[in-house]
Amino acid sequence: MHIGFLGLGNMGGPMARNLLKAGHSLTVFDPSPLATAALVELGARSANGPAQLARDGVAAIVTMLPTAAHVKEVYLGAEGLLANVAQGVLLIDSSTIDPLSAREVAKAAAAQGNPMLDAPVSGGTGGAAAGTLTFMVGGTDSAFDQAHPLFVAMGKNIVHCGASGNGQVAKIANNMLLGISMVGVAEAMALGVSLGMDAKVLAGIINTSSGRCWSSEVNNPFPGVLENAPASRGYSGGFGTDLMLKDLGLATEAARQAKQPVVLGAAAQQLYQTFSLQGHGGLDFSAIINLFRREA
Ligand code: NAD
Repeated sequence: MHIGFLGLGNMGGPMARNLLKAGHSLTVFDPSPLATAALVELGARSANGPAQLARDGVAAIVTMLPTAAHVKEVYLGAEGLLANVAQGVLLIDSSTIDPLSAREVAKAAAAQGNPMLDAPVSGGTGGAAAGTLTFMVGGTDSAFDQAHPLFVAMGKNIVHCGASGNGQVAKIANNMLLGISMVGVAEAMALGVSLGMDAKVLAGIINTSSGRCWSSEVNNPFPGVLENAPASRGYSGGFGTDLMLKDLGLATEAARQAKQPVVLGAAAQQLYQTFSLQGHGGLDFSAIINLFRREA
């Protein structure tokens, strides 16, 4: 299939490479010449913007952009995708954005005869490179079936979450829980150690008891507990505090619009915001434990 791909950053770059590897051909666009050149070297054609990309004989278009503002500009702008794409071309947005914006853009696409899916991912840059991403997909059954071969080229778990916007709903609900659970594990580990427990022994107890979760078992925030976790290498790599902060912002804003209380989600957002303000936005989000550690 000939596919258009916009947004060749940390996630989009490796995702586009996996589409090429699976035998699809690509026309790509990213304002960064470096990001574009890396794909052109592998055989992709480059376009000078969304309009030219949309007119380059594409059967589907995938976007992987930073925020909802970028997504709206790329799809709805005067020189954007919708103003230039042929009817029937499948549109897939894999950016993490709020569900209402996703529904607004998908509605505009459907109104002119373009099926559109929201398909945010989890699995990070490692999953993007390995082609093992999880896709959480919102949209019609027929669009989901049409897009399935593309998702399979880039990911491993492909889940249809329901109607338009529901992929984003699944993504922000999961990441809000992750943000909260990390704060909980951080508090518990810091409490135990300050009261005299050995961090490894305490983590072992938690991980065979009812407090166990991904944040305690796979990404424990206490240094030295897990050799390969970001906590044991100065919190480098992993999932950045500012990215977690972005997802918590999306969750609390969606909750506000739905008048749905998210008490712990909002508290977690404020904690990561405080930590980011202190200059730690680039550290893995498990570094939030430093807010609770005297020796930190
Ligand atoms: P990134 O900043 O590395 O990449 C974004 C790319 O979009 C950049 O190359 C930028 O030049 C490009 N871009 C900006 N405006 C554009 C436009 N008008 N047209 C085309 N390209 C444009 O970000 P990322 O880490 O790749 O994240 C992309 C999305 O995926 C975000 O919504 C993020 O929240 C989500 N996400 C990221 C991760 C992660 O671990 N990095 C994990 C899951 C989801």
